[in-house]
Amino acid sequence: MMSSPLVVNVAELLRRAGSVREIDRQIESEIFKFDDARIVMGSQVQVSLTLEALTDGIVVHGSLRAEWSFECRRCLRPLSGQAEVEVQELYQAVISDPDAYPITGEQLDLLEMARENVLLAVPLAPLCRADCPGLCPQCGSDLQTARCSCSREQRDDRWAVLDVLREAGGAKDDR
Ligand SMILES: [Zn+2]
Ligand SMILES: [Zn+2]
Repeated sequence: MMSSPLVVNVAELLRRAGSVREIDRQIESEIFKFDDARIVMGSQVQVSLTLEALTDGIVVHGSLRAEWSFECRRCLRPLSGQAEVEVQELYQAVISDPDAYPITGEQLDLLEMARENVLLAVPLAPLCRADCPGLCPQCGSDLQTARCSCSREQRDDRWAVLDVLREAGGAKDDR
């Protein structure tokens, strides 16, 4: 078995349904091999989980917290934050639930489960603010701080086509 700092020996838990074990650890993000630019390198992932023995497996629930940094999808400002996700996952020695993670021998590894859940919790396309005006598509000015002189009329060629159609149809354009 590959060595992982999140391998937990669950021999005790497996012996008695209903028994519980708490896991509270800070793990360096590198350990997870996220291979994702959004996760801050050198940061710590907070793992706060409770393992609870059932008759046919171990339920792992609790929270994971990781630091991310990314760019606003409209203006490219650097953004950062903390992604926190609540998890509830099942581990089984004999897999009967297709979504269960494996218990190998008397050990279970929380690493891959934590990795998958953190990646789902990190924003895919964040905005610096809900109404971020973004960059001018013509000159690239940051429209949050600069006012450029590009004509809004020419911003998108598709509108020009619409204008022609409107004129041809005799409709009034009140812009
Ligand atoms: Zn923005
Ligand atoms: Zn412009």
